[in-house]
Amino acid sequence: MNIPETASKILIVDDEPLNIEVMSGALEELGDIMFAINGEEAIQLALSEKPDIIVLDIMMPGMDGYETCRRLKDNPETENIPVIFATAMTDRADEAKGFDLGAVDYVTKPIVLPIVVARVRNHLQLKRYRDYLETIAFVDGLTGIPNRRSFDQHIRSEWQRGTRTNGELSLLLIDIDHFKQYNDTYGHQAGDACLTLVAKALSSSVHRPGDLVARYGGEEFVCVLPSTNLDGAELIGSTLREAVNFLKIPHKSSSVCGHVTISVGGAWVQLDQSKEIGDLISAADENLYKSKSDGRDRVTVG
Ligand code: GH3
Ligand code: MG
Ligand code: MG
Repeated sequence: MNIPETASKILIVDDEPLNIEVMSGALEELGDIMFAINGEEAIQLALSEKPDIIVLDIMMPGMDGYETCRRLKDNPETENIPVIFATAMTDRADEAKGFDLGAVDYVTKPIVLPIVVARVRNHLQLKRYRDYLETIAFVDGLTGIPNRRSFDQHIRSEWQRGTRTNGELSLLLIDIDHFKQYNDTYGHQAGDACLTLVAKALSSSVHRPGDLVARYGGEEFVCVLPSTNLDGAELIGSTLREAVNFLKIPHKSSSVCGHVTISVGGAWVQLDQSKEIGDLISAADENLYKSKSDGRDRVTVG
């Protein structure tokens, strides 16, 4: 697997500055070191810096390592950061407790540096694999834009957020016109290249933080527009349509015009507990069908 090499971030937590110094010296060959001298600081740094691994002392004044670990594992933002306990507590029961709390490893003091380095290196490697797999699981292999799984996750989280805040949300479904004929005329590889160009044009046309363009399936795309009313949806729909027209990808067998076009269907919802994602998708789908039957290369919202 060709995994991109990025510098790892290692957080060392210990109330004894000398321990931090020794550990930093040994681990700096594996990544960028940051440190905290108590549990509260460790949690703050974990949230703000998103380290790839945390080496955590257990006996510390105030919040001890166990409690620090428990809190890290309780927060969805930090729960996936591997924690290695490094402690003077050598009792087997203490070690078991560390694993129970979700730690991935446990080393005892006095620290044997080559062993700590080896263990940290192994866990960083695993973390890198996991991050990479997670990334590709949400990206469409052909076009490089977010895939259907990414869309499902994104709309669910925006839906929940919108429901809490009584917000609104719009959705656009986008379908390439006469794409079967495009494949028949130019071949499947050209079809794939066309899909990729269209995907890039669509994604680069939305800019707000919660906006998302994903490949929905085949030659269909979907665009999620949180906090957007119907006028906004129509405007973005037109922007997408124009962005694809602007590409001027030749399509001599299209009945619409000489280049590739898209049809768009949009729908809007004022969110509350009674609303269903499926209903919004169906409404957008009906409008997409209307765009098709009205002649394609157009946007229908409602
Ligand atoms: P309409 O204007 O009504 O949408 O017609 P259409 O031909 O685009 O619609 P239809 O659903 O009949 O055909 C979609 C085509 O998209 C069929 C399929 O061969 C093609 N397609 C789907 N996925 C891919 C893909 O990943 N690569 C390529 N090259 N073609 C694909
Ligand atoms: Mg289709
Ligand atoms: Mg189509």
